[in-house]
Amino acid sequence: MSEVVDPATGEAVGRVAATSAEEVDAAIARADAAFVRWRAVAPGERARVLRRFAAVVDAHLEELARLEVRNSGHTIGNARWEAGNVRDVLDYYAGAPERLTGRQIPVPGGLDVTFHEPLGVVGVIVPWNFPMPIAAWGFAPALAAGNTVVLKPAELTPLTALRLAELAREAGVPDDVFTVLPGAGSVVGERFVTHPAVRKVCFTGSTEVGTRIMAGCAAQVKRLTLELGGKSANLVFADADLERAAATAPYAVFDNAGQDCCARSRILVQRPAYDRFLELLEPAVRALRVEDPARETAEMGPLISAAQRDRVAGYVDGANVAFAGSRPDGPGFWYAPTVLLADSPADRHWREEIFGPVVSVLPFDDEADAIRLANDTEYGLSGSVWTRDVGRAVRVARAVEAGNLSVNSHSSVRYWTPFGGMKRSGLGRELGPDALHAFTDVKNVFIATEE
Ligand code: NAD
Repeated sequence: MSEVVDPATGEAVGRVAATSAEEVDAAIARADAAFVRWRAVAPGERARVLRRFAAVVDAHLEELARLEVRNSGHTIGNARWEAGNVRDVLDYYAGAPERLTGRQIPVPGGLDVTFHEPLGVVGVIVPWNFPMPIAAWGFAPALAAGNTVVLKPAELTPLTALRLAELAREAGVPDDVFTVLPGAGSVVGERFVTHPAVRKVCFTGSTEVGTRIMAGCAAQVKRLTLELGGKSANLVFADADLERAAATAPYAVFDNAGQDCCARSRILVQRPAYDRFLELLEPAVRALRVEDPARETAEMGPLISAAQRDRVAGYVDGANVAFAGSRPDGPGFWYAPTVLLADSPADRHWREEIFGPVVSVLPFDDEADAIRLANDTEYGLSGSVWTRDVGRAVRVARAVEAGNLSVNSHSSVRYWTPFGGMKRSGLGRELGPDALHAFTDVKNVFIATEE
C-alpha cells in the first residue's frame, strides 16, 4: 500500500495497493489472451467502443479534473483541459479502425498487399506530470489499432488512471483489454520491459530511466516509443512583438509549475532587446497567481512533492536571481516562479532539466548565435521562435533541433499533429496519424495469380 498525497496540503488523499510481480504476470497473461479476441472485433465495433469510452469520459470531466487537482496539484483549469484531452484523443482514434488500410503494390505474377497488424500487448508507462493525457496518448491509439494495453501510472499519481480504467469498463471496453496496474517502476515497469508477451513499451519519463528501458527492450528487439526530458529554448529576436513574447513567456515555462517536458526553460533574447524584455517579463511573473489549485483563479499550483521542491531549490541556491513571483505560506510543496540570469551557457541551471518553475535567461548576438546556443543541449523536444521576419522564422524553426517548434506562439500539443523529441528527448512520435502506425507492424502478403 502506498499513500497518495495532495501536493497543495501535504495531506493523504488515498491509499493504493502496489501490484506485485506475480500479479503483473497474471495481468499480462490475461491481456495476451484478450488480444486474440480484441483484434478480431470488427473495426466498426472497435470504433464504437472507443467512442463510448470517450462519451463516458466526457460525462465525468469535472469529476476527473477535481480528482487530478487533489492528486497532482494541477490547477482546476489545466485539469479540465487534461480530462478533455483524454476524451478528444479517444474520439480522434475512434475514427481510426476503419481507416487503418494497407496498400496494393504492383508486382508481376500476382497480387501484393500490405496489412497493418496489431502488435499484441502494449505496456504504457506514465510519469506523474500529466497523468491523464500521457496515458491516453498511449492507450487510445494502441487500442484503436487492435492491441490490448497494460498501463502503469506513476507511483505519486495513480488516482485518475485507476478511475479511467473503471470508466472504460462502464463504457463496455471488454475485460482485460485495458488494465491499469499501479506500483513501482522497478516491479511493474520492469516487467513490461522483460516480459516476452509485452510486444511494445510506450514510455514517457526521464531520459535516465528511458535509457535503461531502451537497453532492456533491445534484448528482445521490443518495439519502443520514448518521450523523455527537455530543456527547450524560447528565442526572442529584437524585431519580435516583445510585449506578446514577454506576456506569454511565463505560461511557456511556469504552466504546471514548470513540471512540463515542453517547458521553454531557456529564454534567449537578442542583445538590443534584452533589457526591455526583462522589464516586460518582471510584472508578468510577479502577477502570476500561485494559489490553491482548486480555485478558479489559480494560474500555478504546488510542485508534486517535497523532494521535487528541494531539488528545484538546489538549482536556484547560489544562482543569479533576477526576480521571482509569489507563493503561498503554509503546508504544501510550493515554490515561487523564479527567473535566473545565466552567466554563461555552462551554468548548471542552463544545462539541466530542472522540472520546476525556474527559467534562465541569456542574451545572444545574431541568428547564427541563437541557433548555436539553442542546439547546445543534449535535448530536443520543443521550442519557440519570436520574430516578425518570416524568412528568419522559417530558417530558425528548421535549424533548431527539436521535434516541436512554434513561431510566435508557445503551443506544443494538438492531438491530431505529431509530438515527440529529437536527440536525447526521445524516439518515435505520439499523437496524430504517426502514432497509430507505431502500434502496428506492416505485413506484406504476395498471392500468386499465375496458373
Ligand atoms: P521517471 O522516469 O522517474 O518515471 C516515469 C515512469 O517510469 C514512472 O511511472 C516510474 O514508476 C517508471 N519507472 C521508473 N523506473 C523504472 C524502471 N526501471 N523500469 C520501468 N519503469 C520505470 O520520470 P518522472 O519523474 O515520473 O517524470 C518526469 C520526467 O518525465 C521528466 O524528465 C520529463 O521531462 C519527462 N516527461 C517527458 C514527456 C515527453 O513527452 N517527452 C512528457 C512528460 C514528462
